[in-house]
Amino acid sequence: MGAYNLLEAELRCPRCGTYGPADIEFVFGPLEYRTYRLGEVVNWSSRGPRHPSQPPPGGHYSGEGYAECRTCQKDYWVEITVADSVLTEVVVDPSRPGHIPDDPPPPAPSDTP
Ligand SMILES: [Zn+2]
Repeated sequence: MGAYNLLEAELRCPRCGTYGPADIEFVFGPLEYRTYRLGEVVNWSSRGPRHPSQPPPGGHYSGEGYAECRTCQKDYWVEITVADSVLTEVVVDPSRPGHIPDDPPPPAPSDTP
């Protein structure tokens, strides 16, 4: 696993429905283990490791992020949008399942004591 950044944003967890702050790992911009929030600027031309290696046209970029819910500890994927080098939007990607499986269904209730 290489270097990554974190985006702290409010999201509704698609696994348990809890709305709250999430820590989202993503691997674009300068790769320096920095924690961003929406509205912050991505410095595409910083020194050191970064992705992509050339600044994207107009500073526009869209990339995936990986989040783990603080409530249910399950994971999910998001899509992060950068417009004019500003982190503008993060949305849950419901089409992509996480790595952590759902809990098994509870055992069937039994009538016998
Ligand atoms: Zn959750």
